[in-house]
Amino acid sequence: MPNDNHGAQSGDHSLNVGVGDFRGANVNISHTERPTFTPEQLHIQRHPALGGRSLDSNNVSIFGYITGLASLIGLYFALFQPAMGWQSSWTTGFMFSFLVAVMAVVMSAVLRRRKFEHFLGSRHYLEISLSGRLRINRLTAQCPWCGSLMHLRHVGPKEGPRDDLFLCERNPRQHTIQLDPTALPELED
Ligand SMILES: [Zn+2]
Repeated sequence: MPNDNHGAQSGDHSLNVGVGDFRGANVNISHTERPTFTPEQLHIQRHPALGGRSLDSNNVSIFGYITGLASLIGLYFALFQPAMGWQSSWTTGFMFSFLVAVMAVVMSAVLRRRKFEHFLGSRHYLEISLSGRLRINRLTAQCPWCGSLMHLRHVGPKEGPRDDLFLCERNPRQHTIQLDPTALPELED
């Protein structure tokens, strides 16, 4: 029996520390244990998209409320007041603009709390600055293992939870770092 355990297993049924050898035993070293790095160690950099343009989050909310209200009024006339001559094909348009309005309101509310949210595609992030302005940024870092460039990506299964990971350009499978957005320096104007 190659996997025989030769250690003493007796004890008083309290906490027993087995003294013995573990020849043939499988020792699992967890590969998920990762060292943590500070944003300074990673040389995290923000790269503004849209030429650094920003929006006041209050204006986004106001835009959302006004558009939402207008869409609802339009929807009401298109659906229930056919005598007014509003074509029913407009219904789809009003429903769409209502959706956009709700998204604008929800997004600015969520961002005020989280300050950081994945936005478009797999590498653009919506951030809110100290004075409440919305910006779209890409984030890069320097790989602490090999020094290559890393890109922040929103990755994961289609239906499952997704992570925001810095992926190394040279070894994107093993050199990954999970971002804690609260560790990022505040976004100045
Ligand atoms: Zn690397």
